[in-house]
Amino acid sequence: MTQRAYNFAAGPAALPEPVLAQAQQEMMALPGPRASVMEISHRSSTFKEIIGAAEANIRNLLSVPDNYSVLFLQGGGRLQFSMIPMNLLTEQAKADYVLTGSWGKHALKEANKHGEMNVAFNGSDEGFTRTPETADLSLTTGADYLYYVCNETIEGVQFPSEPDGGSVPLVCDASSDFMHKPLDISKYGLIYACAQKNIGPAGVTVTIIRNDLLDRASDELPIYLNYKAHADAGSLMNTAPTFAIYIVRLVTDWLVNDVGGLDKMYAINQAKAKTLYDVIDQYPDFYQGHAKPESRSLMNVTFRLPSDELTKKFLAASEEKNLTALGGHRSVGGIRASIYNAMPVAGVEALRDFMIDFCKQNG
Ligand code: PMP
Repeated sequence: MTQRAYNFAAGPAALPEPVLAQAQQEMMALPGPRASVMEISHRSSTFKEIIGAAEANIRNLLSVPDNYSVLFLQGGGRLQFSMIPMNLLTEQAKADYVLTGSWGKHALKEANKHGEMNVAFNGSDEGFTRTPETADLSLTTGADYLYYVCNETIEGVQFPSEPDGGSVPLVCDASSDFMHKPLDISKYGLIYACAQKNIGPAGVTVTIIRNDLLDRASDELPIYLNYKAHADAGSLMNTAPTFAIYIVRLVTDWLVNDVGGLDKMYAINQAKAKTLYDVIDQYPDFYQGHAKPESRSLMNVTFRLPSDELTKKFLAASEEKNLTALGGHRSVGGIRASIYNAMPVAGVEALRDFMIDFCKQNG
């Protein structure tokens, strides 16, 4: 078998090895149906047990209150950019958008098709290097919701804690840091994450929504775009992405049983990120971190080298050391090391050692 690399891809991203091993073991046949998870009905008792366990794990890991629904949806993060305004805007069609990077901008563009949203903070003037302080936010009184992206995957800018929107429902795109630490879900009206970074493969998006917000949508909405229809059907209105949900179940089993919960996961994530930011801080003339220190992402560590030539050399040399997919997003360049939950400490330490050697040889 091909040797596995330390894969620093931003998404789809590395999965925990025990999860891949279990999926491999069960690929040909699950006990009971004696067929693989991809070959059985989404309405079979075996699949209902799988989706039920995935939901129970998410509820348990995040202590999701009973008045919230956990939905498994398709259409990726992008469809949420549209479903959120379509379901949550009221007649006034006023929501606040906080822009700390590229994904927030994409979401705003979709929401503006339904009215003119208020930009409560625009970090683009500063090159998307930081999250706002409460005083930086220009909020609309009585807004339908306050939207933000807790971790901007491309820029590597992460909120250390939730912005304060008062009584306005907080809506959060947690696609690239979902389940990297414990959260107080009761602070949110809606929080969602496409799975392919931190909790599974591409093909499923988890949306957690406070039940009173389910009633805001009009019955005129196309049924697939209506959160309430999904909640009423237990995420089985149509054929669910069964394989993706099965992997989410295995990843969340891993978080519960192997890692020991989100407090432990968070401590590991903080230590992994510190390992890399310490190198950046130690060699500031060679490695220039993108985010301001207080807004640095624990998941996507973004930095630049002194020249494009050195960046190319860094990428080629890291590949040779079995450290892969370190190129920054095509829109910003530079280097991005995505170190989600599944990236082992040893992978981060290997990258740290490589960065130090590369700087010594080329700095
Ligand atoms: N939000 C964030 C924070 C993302 O990183 C991404 C994907 N990189 C998306 C939304 C879009 O997700 P998808 O590609 O599943 O539509």
